[in-house]
Amino acid sequence: MNKEPVSRELFDEVMVPNYAPGNIIPVRGEGSRVWDQEGREFLDLQGGIAVTSLGHAHPGLLGALQEQSEKIWHLSNVMTNEPALRLAKTLCDHTFAERVFFANSGAEANEAAFKLARRYAWDHFSPDKHEIISFKNAFHGRTLFTVSVGGQQKYLEGFEPAPGGIHHADFNDLDSVKALISKEKTCAVVIEPIQGESGVVPADPEFLKGLRKLCDENDALLIFDEVQTGVGRTGHLYAYEMYGVIPDILTSAKGLGGGFPVAAMLTTAKVGASLAVGTHGSTYGGNALACAVAQKVIDTVSQPEILKGVSERSEKLRQGMLAIGERYGVFCEVRGAGLLLGCVLTDQWKGRAKDFLAAGLEEGVMVLVAGADVVRLAPSLIIPETDIDDALERFETAVKKLAQ
Ligand SMILES: *Cc1c(COP(=O)(O)O)cnc(C)c1O
Repeated sequence: MNKEPVSRELFDEVMVPNYAPGNIIPVRGEGSRVWDQEGREFLDLQGGIAVTSLGHAHPGLLGALQEQSEKIWHLSNVMTNEPALRLAKTLCDHTFAERVFFANSGAEANEAAFKLARRYAWDHFSPDKHEIISFKNAFHGRTLFTVSVGGQQKYLEGFEPAPGGIHHADFNDLDSVKALISKEKTCAVVIEPIQGESGVVPADPEFLKGLRKLCDENDALLIFDEVQTGVGRTGHLYAYEMYGVIPDILTSAKGLGGGFPVAAMLTTAKVGASLAVGTHGSTYGGNALACAVAQKVIDTVSQPEILKGVSERSEKLRQGMLAIGERYGVFCEVRGAGLLLGCVLTDQWKGRAKDFLAAGLEEGVMVLVAGADVVRLAPSLIIPETDIDDALERFETAVKKLAQ
């Protein structure tokens, strides 16, 4: 086995340059703390970008993985398996859903959702009803279909021609959707209840209610991309509950496996029926190890005291960041819900979110950015309150140095 020591420099030698990772390499984690190769400790407010929902090395997840790993890892989709069936049942019990499709990533769950929407319209209406309406600045993944549905042209540059039949409306502007939607052509409207990547921008409740109504009037499916907002992130198991708006299709990934790659597309029995035998698939989708871990995540996160804890931690973190923002004139607003928070930089600091990430690392706290103007936080849903205190203290030191 290759046990040669590795360093950050190796990245540039052996990896394609699509990422620009920081200079530290974390090697171990426990709860909301991680340690790098040199043994330096970091408080983790990144959560692997809303993925490690129960922190690092959670005993329950370790147990679930260990237990399943000794039974069976994988079966083809020519067979089904117990962990996948149990997880699907649990997801149906906890949500509006009646049918589940498992995949491995957010993009792949969205790909399934978009294909299903087209197929459903093809089954029940006409092949002309294939248009998808999404939103400017939306993020739905990096496959060609999902990046085309996403609302950031720069991610398509050089990869065109893109799939057709996709329109982009303005987020939180119902009139812009009205101008694009039609009974003849629109098969689906897809939206993130809180736009994550583009700056942690929550949808207005009235806007989502309006979308539901527009979709109903036009026989279009409403798809919620809850890849980032799902699995307790907002203090609700899924954000649609918080809004009181029920989608026809919902996608879940990131936090679902707590760090193990797994994703799910949830839908109703009527809509799901359109993914008939042979229409779609995924080799690893429904993998037994992944589903066993996700089962433990959902069983844990769906407990009322865990969800309540998210709201309490959210308030503490929000207040702390607002206070730092005011003391140093760096943030004008902290928005988002639960433990998906966006600290919006003041005009004076606009465009410099990355500097805050770098300054945080210097002081031993890992934060995220969402675009150039927002510092994003997406820590473990069970981050200890004392770790929040420590993280805020370290972040304040970082900001102080930056502002000097
Ligand atoms: C991260 C993300 C995706 C893409 O998920 P991958 O697992 O990277 O494919 C899709 N939609 C939203 C809202 C996301 O935040």
